[in-house]
Amino acid sequence: MPDKNIFSDKLHEECGVAAIYGHSEASKLAYLSLYALQHRGQESAGISTSDGGTIHTTKAMGHVADIFTVPVLKNLPGYMAIGHTRYSTTGDTVERNAQPFSVQCNKGRIAVAHNGNITNAAALRADLEANGAIFQASSDTEVILHLVAHSREKTLAAALRDALLQLEGAFSLVFLAEDRIIVARDPQGFRPLAMGQLESSSGPAAHVFASETCAFDLINAVYLNDVQPGEMVIVGPEGVSRERYAPQKKLSQCVFEHVYFSRPDSIVFGRPVQESREAMGVMLAREAPAAADIVVPVPDSGNAAALGYAGESGLPYKQALIRNHYVGRTFIEPSQAIRDFGVKLKLNPVRSLLEGKSVILVDDSIVRGTTSRKIVRMVRNAGAREVHMRISCPPTISPCFYGVDTPNKSELIAANSTIEEIRKFIEADSLAYLSMGSLQKSVADVKDEFCYACYTGDYPSDFVNIEHLVRAGKKAGS
Ligand code: AMP
Repeated sequence: MPDKNIFSDKLHEECGVAAIYGHSEASKLAYLSLYALQHRGQESAGISTSDGGTIHTTKAMGHVADIFTVPVLKNLPGYMAIGHTRYSTTGDTVERNAQPFSVQCNKGRIAVAHNGNITNAAALRADLEANGAIFQASSDTEVILHLVAHSREKTLAAALRDALLQLEGAFSLVFLAEDRIIVARDPQGFRPLAMGQLESSSGPAAHVFASETCAFDLINAVYLNDVQPGEMVIVGPEGVSRERYAPQKKLSQCVFEHVYFSRPDSIVFGRPVQESREAMGVMLAREAPAAADIVVPVPDSGNAAALGYAGESGLPYKQALIRNHYVGRTFIEPSQAIRDFGVKLKLNPVRSLLEGKSVILVDDSIVRGTTSRKIVRMVRNAGAREVHMRISCPPTISPCFYGVDTPNKSELIAANSTIEEIRKFIEADSLAYLSMGSLQKSVADVKDEFCYACYTGDYPSDFVNIEHLVRAGKKAGS
């Protein structure tokens, strides 16, 4: 293991990716796919297309539907497309970090979009810069393009293989070259990448790829299977070829995709997300029952688990918090500051359902605890007699280094407090989390193929473990 493996500061990148090959309206299909993946990132979006000769790219800050208007899509011709939607909290919220990145290099014109976090990006970047590479952005994705350009291999596929083998961490990648698309997943399979097909009445079927299968549903594509961890799929004029570019590793599929991040109508890592979330709720009801009147989800993150909890406990499921689905950012606030304004913008309680009731409130996770506290207060102010908080995963005690936006350990309430202290902080009458064993059962992880590092602090790559301990101020190995 190289000792230069220092962390990239880009820890928090939640993203969605899509790719289309062989459709006359590739840019529109990429647009619709990104539209369905909007929940994976709301800060910027981009599409690159190719007509077999030239690569066209449009990317901007903002939501997919606002960026890609009819005239913008008209300027993205071609039968191949890749797309990306991004969210980052590292303060680097600038357009130059929007993806896809598109460059002209010695391997031709290529564009790339990435979901995940390359944990050795900073070390790779330092080496590349020492050899004269010039970077335009701070995103670790650009490192991949430089590795491809620097590779001694002649073909793009071989150079990519060369590049991918140098990466550590999480990556689901989509590449666009002039006449082909290439997609790949890291050997541990942290982030999802599904493969599908779109039948056409007038020609051969189009090939489609997306972070989640909800994108396929919108464009009428059929989900075939997942790009396998350590696999590269090339779709070009010769057809489709699938190859394993890296040796088999122990899988580390992100459990948080099933807990919170993915849409419940998606199949992720081959399993319907809704099924996992309902199972979490069922097991939570068995492990942590409460003598209450109703079960209320925190929408939308707690919906499916609350359904499972209600079914198992026999208590009525009541949608007593209403979410405004149209909120974006607002900077207009009355001069007389409204208490808990941010949460009130998003959620409002249904007083007639809550008044005088003992309520079981179900959500997927508590991160800092501040939102949960506001929601508990809101439910109580609407007349609830008791509020019992139930969380459909174990306490979040460690940050994610593989592409989920979790804050530093110092800001994670469960890393620094007991469950009783958290209960007091969020002002609930009782608080319980799902156990690790039940979480594992909920995602049907019989072969130990998921990453649970945010709940255990045990990272599935050695140098992340070491760096994490160093960062936490402890000696590695202690
Ligand atoms: P808090 O009480 O402030 O810790 O916020 C908890 C809320 O944040 C829950 O409703 C979660 O669904 C939500 N949440 C958890 N993880 C994330 C994440 N990575 N990105 C955005 N929201 C999240």
